[in-house]
Amino acid sequence: MTLDVAWAIDWVRRAATAVVEHREELVELDRQIGDGDHGENLTRGFTAVVAKLDALAEPPALVGDVLRLVATTLMSTVGGASGPLYGTAFLRAAKVTGLPALGPDGVVALLEAGLEGIVARGKAVPGEKTMVDAWAPAVAAAVQAAEEGAPASEVLGSAARAAHAGALATIPLVATKGRASYLGERSAGHLDPGARSSDLLLAAAALAAG
Ligand code: ADP
Ligand code: MG
Ligand code: MG
Repeated sequence: MTLDVAWAIDWVRRAATAVVEHREELVELDRQIGDGDHGENLTRGFTAVVAKLDALAEPPALVGDVLRLVATTLMSTVGGASGPLYGTAFLRAAKVTGLPALGPDGVVALLEAGLEGIVARGKAVPGEKTMVDAWAPAVAAAVQAAEEGAPASEVLGSAARAAHAGALATIPLVATKGRASYLGERSAGHLDPGARSSDLLLAAAALAAG
């Protein structure tokens, strides 16, 4: 399908459903290496996002308008580390998607901008056991798929698969950013909650793209 405003809205709604369905899992992951609130933080945020979408008189004109609504809502409702991180990701992504629809290059631009936002805000590099470990491989996979001439939906599918693998690959890592870093070596052996939620968000984007 075309990655237009209807796709963006469907993405956000699917992301909200996924977050609610995985709330306990995200809470449990964060209980193991953090403070146990990640599932609650994101459920609060995405529930507010869906309420704002439901209240719109008419759909926005541009993909970026949808992503900006997500950004501002997450920033004001999620809290914790992930609120500003996801808020900045969606805000940067909104800035490069001021279009009625995205092609393969638009998908790459969205993901690159999202990753840049997370890095600008949190200063993590790959391998520090954070959401960057899901986003960085997702961007790399999207770039490669677009270079190979894949359609936009497949670029997104490649990104989602890489994000999933990247999230799982955080398990053996020792955290050096965020709350999990307080545990030092004891953070190894656990899946990073933010990498897992990023996996869920990008899977929702790919599912919405069909
Ligand atoms: P908090 O740790 O403040 O309770 P959350 O539980 O909502 O916030 O989010 C925790 C997640 O945020 C971590 O699992 C990690 O993926 C991500 N995170 C924390 N600090 C950073 C950072 N500096 N850069 C990137 N991601 C980070
Ligand atoms: Mg937490
Ligand atoms: Mg917290």
